[in-house]
Amino acid sequence: MRVAEFRTAVRDWLDTNDLSPGADQSLDAQVAQLARVRRALYDAGWMRYGWPSEVDGLGGPAVLRAVLGEEVATRELAEPGIYSMVEVLVPSVISHGPAALAARVVPLLLSGREQWCQGFSEPGSGSDLASLTTRAVARGGDWVVTGQKVWTSLAQYAARCVLLTRTAPGHGGITAFLVDMDTPGITVRPLRTMHGVDEFAEVFLDDVVVPGDRMLGAPGDGWALAMDLLPHERSTCFWHRIAHLYTRLDRLGAQVSVEDDAALGAAYLALHTARCRSHGTQRRLADGGRLGPETSVDKVLLATAEQLVFDTARDLLPGEIELGDSSWRTEYLYSRAATIYGGTAEIQRNIIARRLLDLGRE
Ligand SMILES: Cc1cc2nc3c(=O)[nH]c(=O)nc-3n(C[C@H](O)[C@H](O)[C@H](O)COP(=O)(O)OP(=O)(O)OC[C@H]3O[C@@H](n4cnc5c(N)ncnc54)[C@H](O)[C@@H]3O)c2cc1C
Repeated sequence: MRVAEFRTAVRDWLDTNDLSPGADQSLDAQVAQLARVRRALYDAGWMRYGWPSEVDGLGGPAVLRAVLGEEVATRELAEPGIYSMVEVLVPSVISHGPAALAARVVPLLLSGREQWCQGFSEPGSGSDLASLTTRAVARGGDWVVTGQKVWTSLAQYAARCVLLTRTAPGHGGITAFLVDMDTPGITVRPLRTMHGVDEFAEVFLDDVVVPGDRMLGAPGDGWALAMDLLPHERSTCFWHRIAHLYTRLDRLGAQVSVEDDAALGAAYLALHTARCRSHGTQRRLADGGRLGPETSVDKVLLATAEQLVFDTARDLLPGEIELGDSSWRTEYLYSRAATIYGGTAEIQRNIIARRLLDLGRE
């Protein structure tokens, strides 16, 4: 299906199938709403476009997923961060996981029957991800995993986790698994963010037995998987997030007066710049290009735009963020995380300096 045709058909369908969320904005309600939206979009076929037939997809270019997510974000049907987890995790499970595993589990996620999480960061390993210490030791045909993850978004709702473990020293000693979260030995302890939501969690793994056929790739392929996964996090996910940020800028514009045009204009420009950059990334994906360190530019532009949109709200709506209890306050606080998750702003700038501009280590 052509992109324009797909967009029109999705819009027509959404116009006649009301998936609007209820008034409850709690995380439980957002996760339930996400499942409802995914289920309906999957059953109607829309959620299956852009994914290969091997995982029950209907094929077509990946850009169809960007278009669908943009419509979902623009209509505010689901929170864009949790909607986009699919884009972060599924491409790597398809390209690295055993085909039979991907065929069985990916449809469960796409259809909203399951939620998954990403177990990369550890208490001592965030920016320096390659120093992770969660251990996996071979025992018969299984692997026994012991260690701790942290900042694992939505772990308390997740049925499965894309988990990075250490099986040998160095970058070449990192191995990835798709682990069932109900396996004995896994304990999830939610953590509260400063915007007041238990969005992420600590995950403790004590002698967790993972079958060998849950390995994604071969022993030692985990670093390559992580490097493949992160650019996905910065392509289609970002397209969805930018669509969401435009809804916030429109909302702000409706709440303030004409004299505020210059500040709104600056925020619009930052957002438009991020969108143009993201458009180029979408094009490269569509042309079959491999995404790499250049997506660090997308990350810096998006985080800058996101924070500027909410800084502008803080400036133009005096007291709303400091004293109010509207969604401006919670979203402003959450926007501070934009320069941390998916790789901090400092690390992105290091990557741009070293790998794109070849400026050397210092
Ligand atoms: C909302 C949110 C959701 C998240 N969800 C997940 C998830 O689902 N799964 C997951 O695995 N992780 C998740 N994370 C974790 C995220 O990936 C890490 O927070 C991030 O990689 C930074 O790691 P850290 O917190 O350990 O900070 P650190 O790496 O300790 O960094 C602390 C500070 O030092 C700076 N710094 C570190 N090294 C350097 C350097 N070499 N040069 C210059 N400055 C440096 C950093 O920029 C930062 O300012 C999430 C984080 C947030 C905020």
